[in-house]
Amino acid sequence: MDQYECHSCGTKYNVTEQGWKCQCGGVLDLVKENVPFSKVYKEMPSMWRYIDVMPFEHDSAIWSDITMGEGYTPLIVLDSAEPNTFVKVDYMMPTLSFKDRGAAVLIAKAKELGVKHVIADSSGNAGTAIAAYAKRAHIACDIFLGKGTSPKKIAQVKAHGANVREIEGTREDVAEAAQKAVDKEKKFYASHVYNPFFYEGTKTYAYEIWEQMNGAPDTLMIPVGNGTLLLGAYYGFKELMENKCIEKMPKLVAIQAENCAPLAKAFINNQQAAQPVENSGTLAEGIAIAKPARSAQILEAIRATNGQMITVNEDEMLKARAALASKGFYVEPTTAANYAGYVKYDRSSDEKIVIPLCGAGIKSN
Ligand SMILES: *Cc1c(COP(=O)(O)O)cnc(C)c1O
Ligand SMILES: [Zn+2]
Repeated sequence: MDQYECHSCGTKYNVTEQGWKCQCGGVLDLVKENVPFSKVYKEMPSMWRYIDVMPFEHDSAIWSDITMGEGYTPLIVLDSAEPNTFVKVDYMMPTLSFKDRGAAVLIAKAKELGVKHVIADSSGNAGTAIAAYAKRAHIACDIFLGKGTSPKKIAQVKAHGANVREIEGTREDVAEAAQKAVDKEKKFYASHVYNPFFYEGTKTYAYEIWEQMNGAPDTLMIPVGNGTLLLGAYYGFKELMENKCIEKMPKLVAIQAENCAPLAKAFINNQQAAQPVENSGTLAEGIAIAKPARSAQILEAIRATNGQMITVNEDEMLKARAALASKGFYVEPTTAANYAGYVKYDRSSDEKIVIPLCGAGIKSN
C-alpha cells in the first residue's frame, strides 16, 4: 500500500481522506510500493499513456471517466535561430494551464478514496482545474480565492459550479482559511501544494519530454511559486533515472519574480528552507507565493541537479510577453516571467533547454 511520509520527521501515515499534513506540521510525501515502469500506452494521446507509473489501485479505471484528454502537449522549437531551445505548450490543456496534470490525478484519486466533497485554495489556475475535474467526477467543490484574483479566473471557477469563498487578505490568509475549513468541516483537502497526489500528475511533464526528445534535455527552465511543476518534473526524471531510461538528471533552473522571491533569496544565502517574504506586487500572480510550504524540497531539488535560480523584474516580464507573442504564443504574465528568465540565462550554444508555456494569455488581464 502507498503511504504518506513526513518530509520533516519521517512519520508514516496511511492514505486517508482526512490527513493532509504531519502532526509536527511537516509536509507529506508519497512513498510508493515499487512498481516497475514497463510500458507506455502509445495509443493514448494524453498523459494517461503513463498510467503504469501512476498511484492508483491495480486495474482501477476511475480515471477514464474523469480525463478530458489532458497532457501529451506539443514540444516545439521556439525559433529556428535557437534550434536547441524548445517550448512545451502546456497551456494546451482543458482548463488552459499545466495544473490539469495534477488536478486530473488528484481528483481521480479522491474518487477512488470515496471522497464526496473537496476544498482547495488557489491564486487561480489550480482552483480552476480542481473545480473542473471535481465537477466532472461528481464531487462537490469549494474553492477559496483571494479578493484580488483575476476576474476571468473567478468566472471560470464559478462556471464549473464550484462554491467560491472569497477571502480578504494575502495568499497565505486564503490558504489558512481553507485549511481551517478542511479541519472543521472534515473535507478532503485537494491542495496542489500539500496533496502529494498532485505531483504524481505533474510528473508526467518529465515523462512526456523524455519520450518526445528520446532522452532528457540538459536543462529545464521552470517558474516556481509553490513548486508543483518543478517538483513534479524532478520526481518524474528521478523515476526515469531509477528505471534506467535516462543517464543523467536535467539541471533545474527556477525562475521567480523579483518582487516575490523567497526561494531565490534562500538559494543565494545557502539556506535549507525559505524565510517568508512580503509580496511587493507582481504581474506574475501564478508564482507570487511569499511562503512556499515545500521550500526545503524545492531547494533540495535545484541543488541536487546543480541548478540555479534567476529573478526577473516586471519590465523584463512585459518584454518577454511581447517577445513570445511575436513568435506566435500568447501567454499569461507568469509564463512570460519564466521566458524572461531564459533570456537572462547564461546558456551554452549546444545546451538542450525546455521551457514550459504554463498558462494561456487569454486567462489573465
Ligand atoms: C501554478 C502556476 C505556476 C507556478 O507553479 P507553482 O506550483 O506555484 O510553482 C506558474 N505558471 C502558471 C501559469 C501557473 O498556473
Ligand atoms: Zn512530521
